[in-house]
Amino acid sequence: MKNRNDAENNELKCSFCKRGQNETGGLIHGYDGYICEDCVLAIADAVYNIRKKRKENTISLGTIVQNTPAEFKSELDKYVIGQEYAKKTVSVAIYNHYKRIKYNLENKNKIRKTNLLFFGPTGVGKTFLAEIIAKFINVPFAIADATSITEAGYVGEDVENVLLKLVENANYNIKNAELGIIYIDEIDKIAKSSDNPSITRDVSGEGVQQALLKLIESTIANLPPKGGRKHPDQKYIKINTENILFIFGGAFVGLEDIVQRRIGKKTLGFGQEIIPKGKYRDISKAKPEDFVKYGLIPEFIGRIPIFVPFENLDESMLIRVMKEPKNSLLKEYQRMLSLDDCNLLWEEDALKCIAKIVHKQKTGARGLKGIIESVLMDVMYEVPSIKGKKKCIVNKNSIKEGKPPEIIKVD
Ligand code: ADP
Repeated sequence: MKNRNDAENNELKCSFCKRGQNETGGLIHGYDGYICEDCVLAIADAVYNIRKKRKENTISLGTIVQNTPAEFKSELDKYVIGQEYAKKTVSVAIYNHYKRIKYNLENKNKIRKTNLLFFGPTGVGKTFLAEIIAKFINVPFAIADATSITEAGYVGEDVENVLLKLVENANYNIKNAELGIIYIDEIDKIAKSSDNPSITRDVSGEGVQQALLKLIESTIANLPPKGGRKHPDQKYIKINTENILFIFGGAFVGLEDIVQRRIGKKTLGFGQEIIPKGKYRDISKAKPEDFVKYGLIPEFIGRIPIFVPFENLDESMLIRVMKEPKNSLLKEYQRMLSLDDCNLLWEEDALKCIAKIVHKQKTGARGLKGIIESVLMDVMYEVPSIKGKKKCIVNKNSIKEGKPPEIIKVD
């Protein structure tokens, strides 16, 4: 005869909460277990929340194209100074890209994808603009460097790693990643011509371009899971690149000579226009054939129908970059110091001085942060130790002569 304990042990229990059937008021039988009413309700609730979250996190094409190109541009205007043509072109391209995807889902006759090529000097907002637009429409975004990509078989990154970055940034939500944007920088450095001065690689640029071609066309790529495929049974991640927008970026140093030659104005020689040394050379008139001459293979250029020139930032634009954008450098440092009760002010001459230095360095807006950071180093060091309200005015001597700006106590 079974004792009392055995009888208790044999009582049917909910497989989830482990309460007996007497306590739960009945159990539902499953194939290999039981579940009580309370657990059914709790699980239903959890599933509802998971589904809701998944739905909220899924990119809605309808929502993206609710914005007009003009609305995209006005968002870009909040952050990107100048580059009017680029902002307009990108706004239209983004609108068309997502409208096309929506159309293709609903129609048999497909409209083909249009990738973009950003070209112009370094540090003028190419990567930045791509980042801002991806953030605004809330799609996954990844940046890759063309020089780190190698042909299959060489040591370096495979093209598939570019996609893997996007998948990671999409938190492994493949559907979202498939609607993302990939920015591939330094595309000019994989030009094939051997006499291109900016090429220092030994791997053939043409091979990398061929590898990239595969990606930008519609293809189902198999990606190894994070950290490589360690076991043969570990599944590959499948991703369709059909709707991923590729933006290529590069400075294309030397392209101006090719453009000039084509339009008949040689840069050197008797009676011909000579562009003064140090002056920014205009490449905005570059055409597909110029890029082919530069060393991009025709098949590759053929897949990038939109060419977006970026202009050089002059001194007045560099001042605007410091002051105007929503997240401008001056606003950021002002905010930082205000946390320690210090009001940071800049004299216009100081900003002019910074812009002049950076313009000379030819680093575009990228050089601004370094100068501002070093000018404010002493201030950021001292301010937290001084109690009460203070102000600090940066004048041109702080920039020119490296004199630390004065911190003044105010009552
Ligand atoms: P690149 O043209 O080489 O891709 P980036 O877009 O990376 O240059 O620019 C570097 C940084 O400089 C950006 O992150 C941004 O903060 C700033 N910047 C560059 N150009 C602009 C611009 N036109 N307007 C506002 N900020 C800019």
